[in-house]
Amino acid sequence: NGDMFGSLKALPADPILGLLAKYRDDANPQKIDLGVGVYKDEAGHTAILDCVKKAEKYRHDNEDTKVYIGPTGSPLFNDEMSKLIFGNHKVLIENRARTVSTPGGTGALRVAAEFIKSCKAGATIWVSNPTWANHTGLFEAAGLTVKTYPYYDYENKTLDFDGMLAALKEVSSDDAVLLHACCHNPSGMDLTNEQWQQVAEVAKTVGFLPVVDMAYQGFGDGLDEDAYGLRLIADSVEEMIVCSSCSKNFGLYRERIGATTIIGSSANAADIANSVLLSVVRCIYSMPPAHGAALVETILNSDELRHQWYGELKEMRDRINGNRQLIVDKLIENGVTRDFSFITRQKGMFSFLGITPEQVQQLQDEYSIYMVGSSRMSIAGIANSNVDYLAQSIAKVL
Ligand code: PLP
Repeated sequence: NGDMFGSLKALPADPILGLLAKYRDDANPQKIDLGVGVYKDEAGHTAILDCVKKAEKYRHDNEDTKVYIGPTGSPLFNDEMSKLIFGNHKVLIENRARTVSTPGGTGALRVAAEFIKSCKAGATIWVSNPTWANHTGLFEAAGLTVKTYPYYDYENKTLDFDGMLAALKEVSSDDAVLLHACCHNPSGMDLTNEQWQQVAEVAKTVGFLPVVDMAYQGFGDGLDEDAYGLRLIADSVEEMIVCSSCSKNFGLYRERIGATTIIGSSANAADIANSVLLSVVRCIYSMPPAHGAALVETILNSDELRHQWYGELKEMRDRINGNRQLIVDKLIENGVTRDFSFITRQKGMFSFLGITPEQVQQLQDEYSIYMVGSSRMSIAGIANSNVDYLAQSIAKVL
C-alpha cells in the first residue's frame, strides 16, 4: 500500500463555517448572525418560497421519469433563464446565446472557467479587489491565472471607479474580466448606469472577454434593473459569458441550480462554442441536477406562479433594502456620529461595516454578534427584533 495521502497537510476550515458553528454554540439569547450569506426573514428563517412549494407539488403530481437529461440540462429552463438574463435583447433575437443548466452559480463559474481554458490555456481572468472569496480558488483550480483590478475604496466607502477603469484599459485583448452584475459580494457597491456604459466602451475598445457573475438578480433594484449593466455590455461586444445562480432569488440554495450562458459573435460561432461547452460539462459532472431547474421552469412558465415569484422576490428585496436604512437610522438614534449612510447606497446581501478586526472580535466576544473579520455583514441577519441591540453594541465598540 502506498502513502499517497501521507504528504497531505490539513487545510484550514472555511472561516464562515467556523463562525456559523460558534454562533450555533453561543448560549446568549441576544446573539445575532451577520455572517452567512443567505436571505433570512424577520424570524431569522430561510423559508422555502410559496411559489417553489407549489411548483414542487406540480412536479410531484406530473413528473413521470428520472431518466438522464443530457449535458445541456432542461432546454425549457435554459430558454427561460436566457430571457430572464437578457430580456428581449438582440443577442437572443440574433440567436447568439447558448445556455446550459449548471450545479448552482459555482458550477456555472467553473464551467465558464474550463470553457475559457479551452479557448486559451492558462488565460488570465481579472477579478475585482475584493471579490467573492471562492472566485480566486475556483478559477485557479481550473488552471486560469487570476489578477485583480481595483474596485472598493475602503477609505471612502465607495467605488474606486477611476482605478477600475484605468486597470481595465490595460488588460490584454485575450484576457477575461469578471464583473459582478449587481449586489457586489462582498462590498455591496455596484456600478451606476453611466459607469456601466464606460465599462462597456472599454470592453469594446480593449476587446477583453467580459464574464459576468449574476448571483443576485432581483435582489438589488429589480430583475431588469439588475441586468442593465450586462445587457449594455452585450450591446457593444461580440462575445461574453454570463454565470447565473438561482440559489438566492428562488431560494433554491441546496438544489444547486444555475446557468452558464455563452454569447458568440454569430449563431454559427455560438454553436461551435456550445459544442465545447457541452464537452466541458461532460468531463466534469456529465449532466446537471434536474430538480431545481424543473422548479424554476415551472414557475417561469406559469403566469400565476411567475407573478407570485415576482411578489416574493420583491418582498426579499424590500426587506434587505429596508434593513439598510433601519440600521443606519438606529446607529444615529444611538448617538453614533460616524457616517454610515454609505450602507444605504449599497445593494444586496452585504456591506463592509468598516470597523477594525479587533472591533469585529469584540462584537463577537462581548455581544455575541457574528460577522467575518473583514467586517462584512450580511444585511438579511438584521431584524426589527435585534436592530436596537445591534446598534447599541456597535456604538459601544466604536
Ligand atoms: N457568485 C457570487 C458572487 C456569490 O456570492 C455566490 C454565492 O454566494 C455564488 C456565485 C455561488 O452561488 P451558488 O450557491 O449558486 O453556487
